[in-house]
Amino acid sequence: EAGDIETIWQNGEFVDWDEATTHVLTHGLHYGTGVFEGARAYDTENGTAVFRWEEHLDRFYASGKPYEMEVPFSRDELTEATLELLRRQDLQSAYIRPIAFFGYNSLGVSPEGCPTDVAIAAWPWGAYLGEDALKNGIDVMVSSWRKHSSSQIPTNAKTTGLYVNSLLAGEEARRNGYAEAIVLNKEGQVAEGPGENIFLVRDGEIYTPGLSQSILDGITRDTVITLAREEGYTVHDQATISRGELHTADELFFTGSAAEVTPIRQVDNVQIADGNRGPITEDLQSAFFDLVERKTDAHDDWFTYI
Ligand code: PMP
Repeated sequence: EAGDIETIWQNGEFVDWDEATTHVLTHGLHYGTGVFEGARAYDTENGTAVFRWEEHLDRFYASGKPYEMEVPFSRDELTEATLELLRRQDLQSAYIRPIAFFGYNSLGVSPEGCPTDVAIAAWPWGAYLGEDALKNGIDVMVSSWRKHSSSQIPTNAKTTGLYVNSLLAGEEARRNGYAEAIVLNKEGQVAEGPGENIFLVRDGEIYTPGLSQSILDGITRDTVITLAREEGYTVHDQATISRGELHTADELFFTGSAAEVTPIRQVDNVQIADGNRGPITEDLQSAFFDLVERKTDAHDDWFTYI
């Protein structure tokens, strides 16, 4: 857990866990003006490696763009900091959380004059929705909360403030006995999970909402699309999926750096197909885990070894 870790990288230095603090008048705390990433390092057959770190860095810097937030550290500095955190804490596998936020200057909404503070933490984290979820799938509900539209707030930027919507949807689901939520966009089409992208299988073909549906451009989404195409599946990656199609799907699953590839077995108490992990989901899940554990040689350029 995040509380058990020893060292955090903060603004260029490695500091002890209890020294990695920030002021209560931090701009990002008041206005949600932070951008962050969630990546994983896997214990691979070739040693510990961060999966698709370059793409996480790309998105990290890009997320700051709408807010004119410049991360004052280079790719090499953030990479070295991350690898060193893994080495120092002897982590064979880990969840990695880089964050950049407007720090303290004045508390106007304008961040003018605020420094951009940057930190990275890494800690061991097992299956996000539980080991059982990976095998047997989860029960989800369609949230009564809609997702903000990309015309209201950039949804392709991984901004801290956006996650109040994820929290509302996820906690509503858990209060009602479900493991996670599916969130519709403002138009009422299927967008994604609170921290996951969603995929649907119908008649052997794979569908996932396109970027125009106000989703985060997930890196696991891209990985799964790539693997599925390599296996010969047809993937519709700019799909529009209506709520009703969820119930009649042959298979549904979530993807995410934290959630990896998690099957969905029920939506709003309606069983999806026979209620088990579907064959295409299982196939893609195996391909995903074989890839990240380096049981295959494919896509070695997706790995940053420590
Ligand atoms: N959508 C949202 C809202 C998320 O928070 C995440 C997790 N970053 C995802 C999708 C999945 O993205 P990724 O595969 O890059 O982790």
